[in-house]
Amino acid sequence: ASHKETLGFQTEVKQLLSLMIHSLYSNKEIFLRELISNAADAADKLRFEALTDDALYEDDSTLRIRLSYDKDKRTITITDNGIGMGRQEVVDNIGTIAKSGTRAFLEALSGDQAKDAHLIGQFGVGFYSAFIVADKVVLETRRAGVGPEHGVRWESRGEGDYTIETIEKASRGTQVTLHLREGEEEFLDGWRLRHIVTKYSDHIDLPIEMKQESGGDKKEDEQEEWEQINKATALWALPKSEIKEEEYQAFYKHVAHDFEDPLAWTHNHVEGKLEYTSLLFIPSRAPFDLWDRDRMHGIKLYVQRVFIMDDAEQLMPRYLRFVRGVVDSNDLPLNISREILQNNRVIDSIRAGSVKKVLGLLEDMAKRDSQKYQSFWKEFGQVMKEGPGEDPNNREQIARLLRFASTYHDSDEQTVSLADYLSRVKEGQEKIYYITADTFLAAKSSPHLEVFRKKGVEVLLLSDRVDEWLVASLPEFEGKPLQSVTKGELDLGNLEDKQEKQQQKEVEEDFKGLVEKVQKSLGDKVKEVRVTHRLTDSPACLVVEQHDISGYLERLLKEAGQ
Ligand code: ADP
Ligand code: MG
Repeated sequence: ASHKETLGFQTEVKQLLSLMIHSLYSNKEIFLRELISNAADAADKLRFEALTDDALYEDDSTLRIRLSYDKDKRTITITDNGIGMGRQEVVDNIGTIAKSGTRAFLEALSGDQAKDAHLIGQFGVGFYSAFIVADKVVLETRRAGVGPEHGVRWESRGEGDYTIETIEKASRGTQVTLHLREGEEEFLDGWRLRHIVTKYSDHIDLPIEMKQESGGDKKEDEQEEWEQINKATALWALPKSEIKEEEYQAFYKHVAHDFEDPLAWTHNHVEGKLEYTSLLFIPSRAPFDLWDRDRMHGIKLYVQRVFIMDDAEQLMPRYLRFVRGVVDSNDLPLNISREILQNNRVIDSIRAGSVKKVLGLLEDMAKRDSQKYQSFWKEFGQVMKEGPGEDPNNREQIARLLRFASTYHDSDEQTVSLADYLSRVKEGQEKIYYITADTFLAAKSSPHLEVFRKKGVEVLLLSDRVDEWLVASLPEFEGKPLQSVTKGELDLGNLEDKQEKQQQKEVEEDFKGLVEKVQKSLGDKVKEVRVTHRLTDSPACLVVEQHDISGYLERLLKEAGQ
């Protein structure tokens, strides 16, 4: 009746398991953080589902996590009374990696241990980190609200397959038991475990309990007391002055499911017409699925400290989809649904306020620590470039945050701000010139740049896919229009002197005959043939009209089947 099956791990899991055990070994204690983090998530999910179905609490509404160890059996056990899982959920969540970007991640692994540890940490291994210290893991779980006969036991040695069977389980929730590997005895120590918990999980908004250390022999009557070992206060609810840097970092790792420290954060208690708290983090590194526009919303919404939902996409625009953190509102109803979140005034103003905070944080970083800002830009700059199009209200502020490559450095590193550009304009220069191309090299070596180089006029070199979209949505910066050097009549405005203009006219007269011939032989293939003054070395180049789409965008649209 237990219907015991042996199933194989998904190929990706197998690959990941062996690599992970070796690569993350030097930081092995994080297994506890990961398992506690999962238990806390499970409690959040139960709280949320119970908002509309009280019965899910059965007769036990005090949510908590318990941690125990057994020296003789060499086991550590983490028990939660959260949402639990059904049989299929166990297969889907524990036997496979549902994360998007898994393939790209595995392909990026190099076999170099240090590099891979970095990548693996960045990808996040969650539950599987148990196998760093355990050679056998047993998970028993029962979903909230179903009968005790629907329990599930999952067991694996982390070597390619696992067994799964149906069991009786009276209590709701999940219990994970790690059978420690030879040599991992250090974790069979109450003080060591307490230390790890307070280091990583002090501010998980849920009590974590361990049995009191009796100091000597165990009490006979099994009436040992559980005591809470973490602070279990919601970190974001505390006054900023009471929070240590390490506490912010530890909390970030839990909410963001990230292994690395965040790059920066902003923590705000807002009072007035609306009351809410936001704690928003910028990760150090882009996740593997940054480009998956359908995944990627990292804000958890709480209402009066009750978890409401993950991925509240209404709280951040898409171009800030890398931001992680928590928003806790006092003005929303507890039974809010995703549908209500759309077109909700409270949400809209929280979002507007949060966007301001994030942009302010970035602006501040750019001012104070340009190296740090540069590392942010490297990871997330391409996403930020979607900003002016998506968020016209903040266009100016976003524009100040943009960075580009330009002919000033001729390096593909994007370090030039529009303000830098303006500080270097030539006398009489009225426009911000740019060129777009498929690659940096193509942009940099374009014949269209010849005259600009000759005159010492800086041109922005744009070669990211998103750049066409960016320039289309950013007509000007501080009163100076952006102008493609490949479009329309080349008008250098006051940069050209009278004498030059006169010479140009004469040249045009001289070549009239040639131009007509070329025009005739090219026929319909071109709109017009003109004498150009753009070039100094190349004999000819293609140009599009001012209001036509550029050659590059035209090709992009064709690729996309438009
Ligand atoms: P992540 O937490 O980033 O989703 P994990 O590998 O840590 O990745 O966990 C995978 C999934 O397994 C979770 O998303 C969750 O659905 C499920 N899971 C893990 N631990 C628990 C638990 N204690 N209770 C309920 N579900 C769990
Ligand atoms: Mg997890």
